[in-house]
Amino acid sequence: TNTCSVESSVTIHDKSFRLFLSEDELQQSIARLGQQLTDDYRDRNPIFVVVLNGAFIFAADLLKCVETPCEVTFVKVASYQATQSTGEVEEILGLEEDLHNRHVVIVEDIVDTGLTMSALLDSVREMRPASVEVATLLLKPKALKRPLSIRYVGNEIENRFVVGFGLDYDGLGRNLRHLYQLSTQ
Ligand code: 5GP
Ligand code: MG
Ligand code: MG
Repeated sequence: TNTCSVESSVTIHDKSFRLFLSEDELQQSIARLGQQLTDDYRDRNPIFVVVLNGAFIFAADLLKCVETPCEVTFVKVASYQATQSTGEVEEILGLEEDLHNRHVVIVEDIVDTGLTMSALLDSVREMRPASVEVATLLLKPKALKRPLSIRYVGNEIENRFVVGFGLDYDGLGRNLRHLYQLSTQ
């Protein structure tokens, strides 16, 4: 346990955010996902493909809960401007690992419209992996623009902008210990 205070609201740039999910609540869902991944990937030497930047804290905590040998690599994509999805998926950088015949788990902070994830899934599937699944800390089911099957979901949330626990608002807020939600939108 830590002795840091829990701020019930924060202001980032021009906007105010309210405490939404505490670190403890997030860790409970992360432990559950870690247990499922451990059971599902035992002795399959999975490779986790972590999507930077937003997933860095989630991935660090999740992977400590995966209790079977695994590999980890990182990619970078960006499609978000401020608090609105641009709908444009930028280049996927750093997917250099050979994923052919590997059991791949993509690790994301949040799936919103799903455009980023479907572009990433397309790129990964081109490498003909043995299997590919997605683990996301957060899912906004009502924002999905195309059907995506996401096996490992930490928390389903409503369609409202969140920040903290790795997620940013225009570059700030990634370091916040808890997850905060935009107060008005
Ligand atoms: P999508 O392509 O699914 O619309 O959005 C994917 C990316 O947009 C996420 O990986 C994340 O980086 C960013 N994003 C989507 N929703 C939110 C949100 O509520 N808060 C923050 N900080 N980023 C978000
Ligand atoms: Mg992300
Ligand atoms: Mg962002």
